[in-house]
Amino acid sequence: MRPYWLDIPHRPSPALAQDLKVDVVVIGAGLCGSSAALHLAQQGLSVALLEGSHIASSATGRNAGFILQGTAERYDRAVQVMGRERARAVHALTLQNHQAMAQAIESHGLDCQYQKRGSLQLASSAQEEAELTAACELLNADGFEARLIPKEDLPPALTQTGHRLGVFLPGDGEVQPARFTRGIVRAAQQAGCAVFEDTQVQSLDAQRPGQVDVLTQRGHRVQASLAILATNARAGQLSNWLVDKVDPVRGQMLATAPLPPLFSAPIYANHGYDYWRQTPEGRVVLGGWRNLDPETEVGHEERLHPGIQERMSDFLSRFPWEEQLQVTHRWSGTMGFSRDGLPLVGPLPGQPGALCGVGFTGHGFGFAFLAGQALAAMVQHGEHAMCTALDPRRLS
Ligand SMILES: Cc1cc2nc3c(=O)[nH]c(=O)nc-3n(C[C@H](O)[C@H](O)[C@H](O)COP(=O)(O)OP(=O)(O)OC[C@H]3O[C@@H](n4cnc5c(N)ncnc54)[C@H](O)[C@@H]3O)c2cc1C
Repeated sequence: MRPYWLDIPHRPSPALAQDLKVDVVVIGAGLCGSSAALHLAQQGLSVALLEGSHIASSATGRNAGFILQGTAERYDRAVQVMGRERARAVHALTLQNHQAMAQAIESHGLDCQYQKRGSLQLASSAQEEAELTAACELLNADGFEARLIPKEDLPPALTQTGHRLGVFLPGDGEVQPARFTRGIVRAAQQAGCAVFEDTQVQSLDAQRPGQVDVLTQRGHRVQASLAILATNARAGQLSNWLVDKVDPVRGQMLATAPLPPLFSAPIYANHGYDYWRQTPEGRVVLGGWRNLDPETEVGHEERLHPGIQERMSDFLSRFPWEEQLQVTHRWSGTMGFSRDGLPLVGPLPGQPGALCGVGFTGHGFGFAFLAGQALAAMVQHGEHAMCTALDPRRLS
């Protein structure tokens, strides 16, 4: 059940053991909260980052580590749902997010297996082929790089498994997500942020800006001028307003022992339901198939779904491996799906002393680092383009 990415040593920060007073309290040390904490500390503010479990222990350390552009919807569908201008603006934000992550890796010297090899979306039916082609044309028309890969140019391993067209997005990348996020938290600590793990927040009272009160499960209080809520799928537990805006949705993952290279970039198939990549050491990390049982795959419990895991293994065994296929890790994780498929980044309705960055809807590595940066900018300047585009109040 241990996620592959978290199967590395970690020396946790201590739990909060006394009351505290800071400028800003950040709740949740996934990608969003960690990024917010770093950028706030870099602004010279006193910051406390409170994590109920461990850094990156939730969705951030349980995903596939793809850094993809766009939302979970393909671009043609995003245009249909949001309109052309908004879809283009949101898409551009995700590319900006990737750039900000790459800059952070460079400037903090993070050892996190970052690669920018692009990503490949695959079609396995005529309908999907038409959708992918439409998405590719629209991306190009809106100034984003995307290339159609006809069947004859796809690697044989992919055509043999029923794939008949691809779209290559050269701007995408991949990372060891837990290493990246822990590196960001270390950088935040170096900038002066106080980090507390195993520190579950029980209640948040941010009715009055300047007098925010956070109570932990162990009975300690953090007083702050402002709070940032970055608890993803658990957002509704500390905010009544968010209860019906972000839903917990489970995804299954597995990782194999190292195998000879077969996939040269992260792959998305079956309308984005199925996805896989090969790590630098050759492990295949594969996730998805939740469409087989969407009613069961909801809730906060990080449990395995044997039927879905079996289908994932079956799928993997269809590739022409030259070595014995051995699955070493199986795990699941919980995503926070927002009601309109877009993250909620900005002022938290009903709590004037709080901002939130939640509901990344399965694409947090396309948004959440920039979201943390944007929330820090909101604290300092009162505005950021991402907080305007993804203002939570749109769902009021
Ligand atoms: C199986 C799976 C595959 C995915 N694949 C990808 C992918 O390849 N690419 C991509 O872009 N996205 C992917 N995602 C989504 C991505 O992982 C998330 O969108 C992203 O990590 C969200 O980051 P976050 O900081 O909002 O949330 P989280 O990582 O969930 O962090 C929230 C943190 O808040 C803490 N917390 C919650 N409640 C409290 C409380 N009361 N007190 C204190 N702390 C609390 C939690 O312990 C947790 O650490 C995937 C997700 C899953 C589950």
